[in-house]
Amino acid sequence: MASASTNFDYSSLKQLLNDTHAQVLMPTDGDEYEKSIVRWSEHCIKRAAAVVKVTSPDDVSATLAQIREHKIPFTVRGGGHSTFGAASIEDGIVIDLSKMRNVTVDAKAQTIKAEGGTLWEDVDLEAAKHGLATVGGTVNHTGVGGLTLGGGYGYLTGRYGLAIDNLLSVDIVLASGKQVTASETSNPDLFWAVRGAGQNFGVVTTFTFQAYPQANPVFAGPLIFLPDKIPQIVEFANKFHTINDGNQALVWGFSAPPPANAPVVLCQIFHNGTEEDGKAFFADLFELGPIADMSSLIPYEKLNTMFNQTAGFDGRKQFGGGAFKLPLDPGFVVQLHAEFNAFVASHEGMNESMLAFETIPYNKINEVPNECMSFSNRGDYYNVATMFKWFDSSLDNEIRTFSRNLLKKASETASSRSKDGGVGQYANYAAMDVDANDVFGPNVKKLEELKHKYDSDNLFSHGTRLTPRPLVVVN
Ligand SMILES: Cc1cc2nc3c(=O)[nH]c(=O)nc-3n(C[C@H](O)[C@H](O)[C@H](O)COP(=O)(O)OP(=O)(O)OC[C@H]3O[C@@H](n4cnc5c(N)ncnc54)[C@H](O)[C@@H]3O)c2cc1C
Repeated sequence: MASASTNFDYSSLKQLLNDTHAQVLMPTDGDEYEKSIVRWSEHCIKRAAAVVKVTSPDDVSATLAQIREHKIPFTVRGGGHSTFGAASIEDGIVIDLSKMRNVTVDAKAQTIKAEGGTLWEDVDLEAAKHGLATVGGTVNHTGVGGLTLGGGYGYLTGRYGLAIDNLLSVDIVLASGKQVTASETSNPDLFWAVRGAGQNFGVVTTFTFQAYPQANPVFAGPLIFLPDKIPQIVEFANKFHTINDGNQALVWGFSAPPPANAPVVLCQIFHNGTEEDGKAFFADLFELGPIADMSSLIPYEKLNTMFNQTAGFDGRKQFGGGAFKLPLDPGFVVQLHAEFNAFVASHEGMNESMLAFETIPYNKINEVPNECMSFSNRGDYYNVATMFKWFDSSLDNEIRTFSRNLLKKASETASSRSKDGGVGQYANYAAMDVDANDVFGPNVKKLEELKHKYDSDNLFSHGTRLTPRPLVVVN
């Protein structure tokens, strides 16, 4: 959108929203303002001119009216976990959804309504009260908003698909300020766009999800190994690929976490069933002799808390993503580990960084063709992710370049994806400067036409990759 109106008096927002429960915070508001601009990654902290903590769709519409009239740059904050600054802005307005965290469960219909600023913790806990669960993020302090709008992988994905595959409808405030519902039957084209590229189309104030019975506890937890076990772990991942029935997940990768700060291989195992069956399924890993075994039978709502602390809020961070196919060659993985480890070991404060192979079964995901929603990452491959953590800002560019190159190498096995397969790039792990075609593939053209229909002035341009393209009608 056009550059900021230099004359805009941001304090006028306080008067405008005076009669609502919304809160407007400005740099002069001290601690409360400082807290409101905190993000999961330190390098995404930016000094907004005003943070508008909305409490209703009407607050969002009223704020957007000012944004349109005065051409003010803005962004939307859900859980604040984007590592590319998508939910923060220098000088403009942040529409902050953190006061909209209400969750209601319809136990009979098995549906969950979550407000736009909800965290997965809110959903997991409320659903569990009714013996239910839905597909959500694996670290429960991430936002429902960003995670769902970009796709959404979780432990239950092998059984029920992505978060968007279980999204029944959204209530969304469009760039015009109009409040609409999008579902298979109401504004279906908008619903198609929202499921994968949602951040480009408006502010979602309510998500409605399909839920499933999840009264039984699950068997899960990390097993830690020394790196000399990499070949056998890769052999097990290759076996996992053929023996899982969608009720298991295996996320394995490299790190050198405190207190030892020594290189290890971390295997997060998950089995949606009994301890006995889980132990039998992952027997090959247990027999390898982990140096630490933190697996146990836990209630489902505890599952997504396991990495909350490891994935804490301090430091600069960056996610990156690619794709890999199984089976993998153990020698190839040993080589990747050597490169990752050498880089991390030679830079101070990077021990908590990770290279993770997210072996979340994809058969259920691939029951939906890529053209059915804007999300374009369905295929016969898994996501590989880097999560770099560091403290020295002078390393930013070096880390970005290293991450990109490492992921390129780690993704070599997925270069032979089938033609109708996905892009091999999960949008929520991709940097903002990644080309729209790399994230949305053949769906870009339709997305840009819908962008023209729903946001022709490209108001939702912050951190997004799409530009409005008018539909050309050929007679
Ligand atoms: C620790 C950690 C764990 C993760 N685990 C997983 C995982 O298990 N599975 C997975 O799929 N991904 C995972 N991710 C990636 C995650 O999907 C993205 O980081 C996602 O952007 C987080 O959403 P958020 O709402 O917290 O982020 P934010 O930074 O608040 O938002 C991200 C983007 O979404 C927009 N947005 C947020 N809410 C709304 C809304 N209601 N309406 C319109 N736009 C909105 C923002 O404007 C921004 O563009 C993880 C990330 C982290 C940091």
